[in-house]
Amino acid sequence: MSTYLDSCDRCLIPVTPAAGLSDGDSGLVCGYRCPNCRGVWTCSWMTVPGRVDPPSHTADAHVAAVLHEQAAINRSHKKPARDTPAA
Ligand SMILES: [Zn+2]
Repeated sequence: MSTYLDSCDRCLIPVTPAAGLSDGDSGLVCGYRCPNCRGVWTCSWMTVPGRVDPPSHTADAHVAAVLHEQAAINRSHKKPARDTPAA
């Protein structure tokens, strides 16, 4: 089963999304926490049939915060950001 894996920019390792939010009819925003460097980021995807959606909630408050912020930015049609260093 595939999911919305993304690579940590620093560690170059695949990371499973901690959580994801629907972003319109065909979009998904996923939040990630690198298990190596603890970096947090989000990535916007087009929904891919057959891929496993991440859970909509995470106990990681930092990931949840950036995820909700990015989803709000996407809904307002602004340019997506991709950053947020580790705390
Ligand atoms: Zn990393």
